[in-house]
Amino acid sequence: MVSLDFETHEVGNQVSPRVGVNLYASDPVLAALVEGLPQPVVDGLSTHGSQWGTAEMSDLARLANTASPTLKTHDALGRRADLVEFHPAYHALMRRSVAAGLQASIWDASGDESSVRSVARGARIYMTAQVEAGHLGPMSTTSAGVAALAHAPALAETWLPMVRSRRYDSRVLPTAQKTGALFAFATTEKQGGSDLRSSSTRADPTSDGTHRIIGHKWFVSAPMSDALLVLAQTLEGLSFFLVPRFLPDGKRNPIRLIRLKDKLGMRSNAAAEIEFPGTTGYLVGEVGRGVSTIAETVTLTRLDAAMTSAGLARAALADAVHAARHRRAFGAPLIDQPLMTRVLADMALDVTAATALVFRLAEAIDRSHDNPVEAAFARLMTPVVKYWITKVTPSIIAEAIECAGGNAYVEENPLARMYRDAMALPLMDGPGNILGLDVMRVLRRSSDPLEAVLRVIEDGLGQAARSTLNVLRAATAVALADEGSARILTEQLAMTVAAAALRRRFPAVIADAFLESRLGKPWRSTYGMLDARFDARAFVDYVCPRA
Ligand SMILES: Cc1cc2nc3c(=O)[nH]c(=O)nc-3n(C[C@H](O)[C@H](O)[C@H](O)COP(=O)(O)OP(=O)(O)OC[C@H]3O[C@@H](n4cnc5c(N)ncnc54)[C@H](O)[C@@H]3O)c2cc1C
Repeated sequence: MVSLDFETHEVGNQVSPRVGVNLYASDPVLAALVEGLPQPVVDGLSTHGSQWGTAEMSDLARLANTASPTLKTHDALGRRADLVEFHPAYHALMRRSVAAGLQASIWDASGDESSVRSVARGARIYMTAQVEAGHLGPMSTTSAGVAALAHAPALAETWLPMVRSRRYDSRVLPTAQKTGALFAFATTEKQGGSDLRSSSTRADPTSDGTHRIIGHKWFVSAPMSDALLVLAQTLEGLSFFLVPRFLPDGKRNPIRLIRLKDKLGMRSNAAAEIEFPGTTGYLVGEVGRGVSTIAETVTLTRLDAAMTSAGLARAALADAVHAARHRRAFGAPLIDQPLMTRVLADMALDVTAATALVFRLAEAIDRSHDNPVEAAFARLMTPVVKYWITKVTPSIIAEAIECAGGNAYVEENPLARMYRDAMALPLMDGPGNILGLDVMRVLRRSSDPLEAVLRVIEDGLGQAARSTLNVLRAATAVALADEGSARILTEQLAMTVAAAALRRRFPAVIADAFLESRLGKPWRSTYGMLDARFDARAFVDYVCPRA
């Protein structure tokens, strides 16, 4: 009689998870983009990559997304609690990211990192996102929120030391008793998220110099943060407020959590619908100038969204290549089958271009404070970069799922989560059309940003850029006359600057292949469109080398 031992029966041709990799050392694209950074910064990135690439971190990410946060509106005695409880794995991820300074390092970087703060922190965000994107939301809002505090020196004095702390403290306590603090953003309302002028939440001045806020917010991520940064209407117009969870006398500032969103992705992090029933807010910046007070904040959250998205795209590509190397079909590894190689190579081009593009933006933001040309470049390219990268990433992940087969369509595989998480990033911090409108706004205000961008393209592409520059000038003129074409210009700008950024740091053939297949050919909407003149296998092995 034949006995089958199903418990120990070997399973053939299945692909083990890609864990235990140093996310820095295994990524030549990242290494090329941070080349030239001071060695201690690079060493720090390698340490970060090895810490976040472990099986333990993947497990924390899985757990934090399996057990969703829960809302506790009241305590056992019927008193309002307004709490969100998270899985301990979420807190573990937060603890590590705060220790790495993801919530504040651009504001207190010193020594070697001080001149490359956005690039260095960006590289850490990019690697962290490859493991877990949901918990990066509060890292981003806290870091970006600090920019607004520059308009409120007294508040900055109290809050900055707490935000800069590298100790994550999730306890619900007055700030003075805590070892660290985080910020959340509350701008979106039921009747409008993009159109902030439609905000109905009201803030009335009180005799003690604070404001009393009455109204609601519809989508507040990380609602357990120590302070909410809130837009509300005053007699003078839309104004910006810091709303602390606790008041100086130690009492709770009433912030009612009504319901948690049952989100498609970013499930490790909570997002709440909230109400302000007469909540104390502290004015940040000039009254009536709320939108301009948060201008820099918006730039920084958009950079983070693009960096997170690029990290997700990288992780998806690396998983797809890993699966294709270890899975066989029709007698050979998938990676050796010409159609699969071509698909992966085509994806690798977008991943490399997206990464080069977002690091170029981070570099411009680092240089902005003393270089007006870089500042002008960053003004135009922030919405452009956020637009293109967050749009292209879901397609890359969708293709990666297909490359890895049915196993990637189940929740045990991180690609399923990555796909859902990536879908949030085009929406947050300005959806596509709003970014297109922002591009138009920048172009209408001054010709400097376009000239700065064209100069970067010319520097990167040299002679080849001549006709491209003319095309971009013409597309700009069309878009200025016809707002409906703003996405066409936005995408062209993104891909051309990406090609210039690729030329600067990578073998010329990569930029050539990207330019030719993306800008020199008719419309394409799927991967695998690279023609045989380019060595697809070499691209794949260069971008994702064998371990
Ligand atoms: C995961 C996640 C987390 C979030 N976290 C937060 C948070 O912490 N705090 C917060 O305040 N909000 C948060 N949001 C909300 C987010 O900021 C809004 O969803 C976003 O700003 C869009 O607003 P809306 O949903 O009201 O859509 P709408 O403003 O109604 O826009 C709907 C669509 O119309 C388009 N549109 C709008 N105006 C125009 C126009 N003039 N021309 C052409 N098209 C236009 C937009 O591009 C969009 O595609 C979060 C959202 C998600 C998905």
